[in-house]
Amino acid sequence: MSGKRRPAKAMFSLSPVQFRNSAIAGRGVFARQRFEPGEVIVAYAPKQRRVPERSDEAVAAAESKITLLSGNEVIIPDTSVPGGWLCNHSCDPNAALYASGEGRIQCTRPIAPGEEVTIFYGWVSHNEPGRDPCRCGSPKCRGTINFDLTDEDAEHVQVLDDGRVVADAVLGPRLAEYGAYLRSIGQEQVEQAIANTLMRIKSRPKGSIVCAY
Ligand SMILES: [Zn+2]
Repeated sequence: MSGKRRPAKAMFSLSPVQFRNSAIAGRGVFARQRFEPGEVIVAYAPKQRRVPERSDEAVAAAESKITLLSGNEVIIPDTSVPGGWLCNHSCDPNAALYASGEGRIQCTRPIAPGEEVTIFYGWVSHNEPGRDPCRCGSPKCRGTINFDLTDEDAEHVQVLDDGRVVADAVLGPRLAEYGAYLRSIGQEQVEQAIANTLMRIKSRPKGSIVCAY
């Protein structure tokens, strides 16, 4: 069991988090104590199974949106046991999901007792702009959880011989604005998913690419 840290008084107190109904959606994860940036809040899935990334089971489970890619395997939480997989999305999250090992939710901004623990899902969709309305309630809320790219968007990008994806003056500003937002919340890795999605729409193989604009 790696990286699990608990305060010294933990043995006398209850769990550091509580799983209960959330104003954002369904059940959420709530802090019962203060957390500081870098602290592990809760395991992603205390009970879990691992299946190979490309197995039918992994693909089917991904549809339910509660899987986690860890190396070449997909972690499927046993949903009879609550865990970090219950964390809601926020456009201004106070925690992040890390996939290494068993998967964990780690604090990125100070969290007060009673506050909901939220993460950034980083979903990139294709031709489904309003798919996932967001109710995070943050002043920074972007309205939807997913960042959508349409077939038309893909017409405004060019794939260079070296695999870089370059957007033109029509799509470029939107990608640049979202890129700046992602960096402001420490989620710049989502740019890779954006580039991969654009490559997929253009029926080009995935590669090691960057979004340049
Ligand atoms: Zn939001």
